[in-house]
Order: sequence, then C-alpha cells, then structure tokens
Amino acid sequence: MLATLRGIVQEVNAAADLNEALQLIVDRVQSSMQTDVCSIYLLDSVENRYVLMATKGLNLDAVGQVSLGYSEGLVGLVGVRQEPINLEHAQNHHRYRYFPETGEERYESFLGVPIIHHKKVLGVIVVQQASNSRHFDEGEEAFLVTVSAQLAGIIAHSEATSAFVGPSLISSKEQDLVFKGVAGSPGVAIGQSMVMFPPADFDSVPERTSDDIDADLALFDGAIESVRVDISKVGERLAEQLRPEEQALFDVYIGMLDDKALAGEVQNKIKAGSCAQTALKHVIKDYASHFEMMSDAYLRERAVDIKDLGRRILSYLQERETQTLNFPERTVLVSDELTPTMLGEVPRENLVGLVSIKGSGSSHVAILARAMGIPTVMGLVDVPLSKLDRCEMVVDGYNGDILISPSAEMQAHYATVLNEDKELDEDLKEIIELPCETTDGHRIHSWVNTGLMADVVRSLDHGAEGVGLYRTEVPFMINERFPSEYEQMLYYREQLEAFAPNQVTMRTLDIGGDKALTYFPIEEENPFLGWRGIRVTLDHPEIFLVQMRAMLKASQGLNNLRIMLPMVSSVNEVEEALHLIYREYHEVRAEGYQVNMPQVGVMVEVPAAVYQVRELAERVDFLSVGSNDLTQYLLAVDRNNPRVAPLYHSFHPAVLQALYKIAQDSKGMHVQLSICGELAGDPAGALLLMAMGYDALSMNASNLLRVKAVLRGVSLEWAQDLLKEVLMLDSSYIVESTLTLALKEAGFDRFLRRSRLAEVKSSAAL
Ligand code: PEP
Ligand code: MG
Repeated sequence: MLATLRGIVQEVNAAADLNEALQLIVDRVQSSMQTDVCSIYLLDSVENRYVLMATKGLNLDAVGQVSLGYSEGLVGLVGVRQEPINLEHAQNHHRYRYFPETGEERYESFLGVPIIHHKKVLGVIVVQQASNSRHFDEGEEAFLVTVSAQLAGIIAHSEATSAFVGPSLISSKEQDLVFKGVAGSPGVAIGQSMVMFPPADFDSVPERTSDDIDADLALFDGAIESVRVDISKVGERLAEQLRPEEQALFDVYIGMLDDKALAGEVQNKIKAGSCAQTALKHVIKDYASHFEMMSDAYLRERAVDIKDLGRRILSYLQERETQTLNFPERTVLVSDELTPTMLGEVPRENLVGLVSIKGSGSSHVAILARAMGIPTVMGLVDVPLSKLDRCEMVVDGYNGDILISPSAEMQAHYATVLNEDKELDEDLKEIIELPCETTDGHRIHSWVNTGLMADVVRSLDHGAEGVGLYRTEVPFMINERFPSEYEQMLYYREQLEAFAPNQVTMRTLDIGGDKALTYFPIEEENPFLGWRGIRVTLDHPEIFLVQMRAMLKASQGLNNLRIMLPMVSSVNEVEEALHLIYREYHEVRAEGYQVNMPQVGVMVEVPAAVYQVRELAERVDFLSVGSNDLTQYLLAVDRNNPRVAPLYHSFHPAVLQALYKIAQDSKGMHVQLSICGELAGDPAGALLLMAMGYDALSMNASNLLRVKAVLRGVSLEWAQDLLKEVLMLDSSYIVESTLTLALKEAGFDRFLRRSRLAEVKSSAAL
C-alpha cells in the first residue's frame, strides 16, 4: 500500500494542472482499490456546492455538470461531519441521492472521505461498488484517508494557482488567491511576479509555452551537446580508475541523450509548443517516476541517473536563458530561497516586492529587504513556485500575505493603501526632529534596530535617537568566513560614528536557531532549543573575545558603545561573559586604547530570564526584552513557521503578563529597561509598553515615526488606563480588538495598517 501511495503522490506532484491531478488520483485509487467507481467532488466555495470534478467509472460527461448542495446527499454529509462514511448498503441511507445524469447504475456500497486542508473541507473523495457484497474494510478506509490527507495540500495549491481556479463552475468568477507566509519587510507592493529559479531545480521550472519553437530546439540541442561533451570528459578522466564494465555506464548515459530516447521526446514536446525547460522537466519526471516505481532495486536507482542527467541539461538551458531576462517595470521577485545575489540581478528601479518560499523574518534577505525598504513576504508553506511566475501579485509585507491575480476590487484597495502609506510618510516628516513625548510630558527613547549600513542611513533619516539593537550577526552573514578583528572593527566603527554621541547597543553574535552562517553550519534537530546566541559564543571564546576587542577598539574616542548578550537563560552565562568582557577591556587598554568600560546588558527573551529579572539586573546595567523570541518560547510557537503563524501572538495575555512582570521586577533595580522586539514597532504595542514603564523602544526604522506620532498624541495616563483594561483580558483576539478600537477612537485610524488590512481580507471571499 505504501508503495502505491508513494507512486500516486509522485505522479500527482508531476501533474500539469488540477484536472490532470484529480484524474490521476481517481484512476489510481480505483485501480488499486479495485472498485467500480472512484470520484472526486470539490467544494465550490462561491456557490457552496460540491461539484463532480473527476471520475473513473461514472459518465465522464457528468464532470463539471453534476453538483450537490453543501449538505446534500452522502457527499454533503461526509463534508459536514468531516469524517469518513462507509456504507455497505448506501441506498438504505436517508441521505442517499441518485443522479441519473452520471449514467450510474445504483451503486450499493459507498465510502466517502473528506479532503481537508488547514481545517477547511476542500471536497470529498468517494469510492463505490455495485455488488452488495462489498464492505470496504478498515484497511481500505484507512488507505483512502491516507490518500486524501496526503493529497489535500497538493489539491489546495493546484486549485488555488490553476488558471481556472478549481471547479469549472466558478471559473468565471474573480477570486482573490491568498497565500500566508510571514512578514519579512513592511509595506505593500503591487506588481508582476518573476520567479528566479535556483539553478537546475526541476521543481521550480514553470509551465511555459515556447515563444519561438526553432530557437528552443536550437537551445536544447546546444545543451545536449554540451552535456555530451561533459560526460565524455568525466568518463575519460575516470578511465584509469574504473573497470571497463563500470566505464560502460558513461556510454549508457550518452546513449540516453540520443535522439531516439529522451532527447527525442523533449524535442517532440517543444515542437508541440512547450518551452525547452518545461518540455525537459516533463520528460525527466516521466522517466524518473517510471524507474522509481520499478520493483527491481537496480532499476529504481536509475531514476537518480536520469535526474542527474536532466539537471545537467537544465543548467545549460538556464545559463543561456538568464542572460536574456527582461524584468517587468514593477517586478515582484519570487524565489524558492531568495539570495542577496538574486536581488542584485534586478535593477533597483524595477524591484517593488520580494517573495521567498523558504526563510523567515530574520533571514539574511529579509534583513536586507528591510534595510532597502522593499515589502517582503517569506516562508510560504507548500506553495508551488512554478505556478507563481509572471502573474499579477500583491505583496502585503504588513501581514505576510501574497495575493495572486487579485480582483479589481483588491487591486484598488491595495493601490489606496500604497497611496495612503506615501501620504502618511510625507506627513510624518514633520515630527522627525521632535522628541518622543506624550501630551503630559512623559519622555521615552525611540531607538532603531540595525544590521547593515543601509539601516543607518534610513534610521538617521527617520530621526532615530540611538540604536537599541545592532545585530552583529549581519556583517558575519554577508561574509564568507568569520570577519577578522580589524574587519569587524570597521563595521562597528561605522555604526558607532554614525550615531555618536547617541548610544549604540551592540549585541554579541547571535547565531543558531534560524540564523546560519554558511561557513559555520550548525545542524540540529531542534535548533531553537539548541546551540544559539550566547551558548555558541561562550563555547567559542576565541570568537567572542575577538568580537569584544573589535567593539572596544571601535568605540575609542566615542564612548557610546553598549554591549548586549542574547539568549541568556542563567546568571552563570552572564558572569562568564562579563568576565571575558572585563578581561578584554583591560587588555585593550593595556595596548594603549583610550576606551571606557561600556555598559553591559542582557536580553530577556527566554522564559527563564523573565523569572530572574532581579538576579540578572543585579549584574548588569540594562535589560532589553526580545519579544520576538520571548513570544515564541512562551507560546511554544515557532516564530518562522507559517503553519502556526496564527498562534504567534505578541498580544497574547501570557506574553503581556510576562512583559508587565519584567517591568515590575526591574523597578528599583537601577537598570534601564528597553525592548527591541517587533512589538515595540507596533503603535498599540508601544503604547502598552510605555504604560508598563519601559524606558526605551527600539524598532525597525520604518515604524519609528508612526510609533512616535501615536505616543505624541496621547497622555501617559490614558495609556495606563488602557493597559489596566487590557491586563484584565484573557484572549489575544479581544486584546487586539480592544486596542484597535481604542486607537480608532483616539483618532489613530491611519496608523493601524496591519489590522486594517487583515480586516479587509477576512471580509473578502477567500
Ligand atoms: C527578539 O528576539 O525579539 C530580538 C529582538 O532578537 P532577534 O529577532 O534578532 O532574535
Ligand atoms: Mg532574539
């Protein structure tokens, strides 16, 4: 059964579109379960009806024609109950419905299983049998449930991205196709998507037709010739090390490139209208899955050879194609895993948005995107990249969503948002030089989070009063080895000089978790609970000490450096780090550098630190809350996993209580208390934090003026009343709606970008 299932999934994955995928499923299920009929009904979410979309066994003319109401018949019942229904004598059931148009005889046995993706019923898969002696046993039922669960994701996404949008009945209606990821860089972009493919990856090759068949044939022939030469060379190089029978393998390889075999099939597909890459993809996938399904282990292994050959040809095809890429005027660059080099390939004036299927808000590209002010969405689960190419797309970097082929209504809505954003930015210029002060004179520091030099420029433009978090891992990430002490010193000096005499809080290297250095890979089963932040640097004092020396030397003559320790979960770590910092301080001074001992602080970002605020505060000069990680660890929700993104809520009452406790416990401890997680950049979050007693808020430069504008428009007393009310609430949603309402009533509607966009989308028919 497992082999059958694997075969079905592979074939369905390779299907060109939803119709082909559905037909494959019903054909394979019908033959492997040896039933008379297998059909799939998909739920048309606009009409709220189940439409027969594919069948093996019923009249094919009924496909797209026969439909049932949401709760009609046995199909409707399976959908409503969201569980399998297995009946030996279906006609006796009061919900049984007979459709003469399907040409069906009266099938006696019925097994229906819902197709569910992310809690949503997409449809129902049904098997039927005429003979009344058939009782689908438990094993068969379990098989169909497994097929349905495995295929639900594929169906959901091919339905969502197919040109005809699922059931034919709704093909004429405009629907907004929304995919959820995580916010990488705030803002909205409307443009045309352009997928940049990782080299030689078939999964990301799109379905494209040929613009010029002769040119594609020539391109393909050239690629084949190049691969043939490559393989011959490899064969010759290895000739002395291989026995003749092993060398024959290379001849087999070259034989596969023959006109009569693989190459001939690709050429035929090109002649039939596919572009070279698409044609190659299909032929290689067909060949590979054919071999993969063979029971003989030796032949199964040949699938690997076919794929390798395919990748070699593909890389030659892509090499030639990239030289001629034309980027649309408003390009949304999409890739499986965007890299900074890819960004560099698009002219800046054409680049309006970014989408990366893999990665997170703290990926290197997201950091770069924020510095460049490009709206970005990262981490979209299960989205078939090949179908995102060259379509109209909205990137909602506030909420982490993308909309594909948006309706005119949605386009107009987002165009308004874009304009409003521009107007707001223009209006906010007025307060750049003004302090972050409430109407009753309470002053709070408004700081920025930086990483690259580009952040510095944007921060100064936005009137930042200092840096609450400089992520030193960024200069480490853009290098190909650990930067030397001198190189680090230059990076740090740039930051310190730019903000002097204001303070710059430099966090010691915070790698691990999702922040990887290519030259220092950390492979772990559970990286967020593993070797991260201070744990890594204390285990590698040679890295930590060099960093401390570079920071201290960079601060000479400026004395605006503060050092901050990430991922602290015990006082021992702080003591050990302090010991190393003091040691380096004395050594640097002994070398003749005139530096002052910088202030040292600790990030409160794991639950253990929340309960040891006093003990930590006794040892350092300041505490800074990392609410991004604190939320993740308190709620046990991976901050970068879009599957659980709806559960990641910094307004969760437990998070608010923790933040409040930190503020209370640090009172009277003679430490400055700041926050540098994303919550500080949210106007409502900033209000609550100020009311709790936080002294400084550090955020992304693009949020700085919005937060300042809101804080300048309220009194501390008003914010404290709001906090009191909010701390009594027990649900994140109620907290959010209470805050939204309060801000609206106070006249800050324009600043509620995130929640307003979310409202619009939830009211649209998705
Ligand atoms: C945080 O965890 O809130 C934080 C500011 O650090 P980072 O996002 O870099 O982990
Ligand atoms: Mg953190």
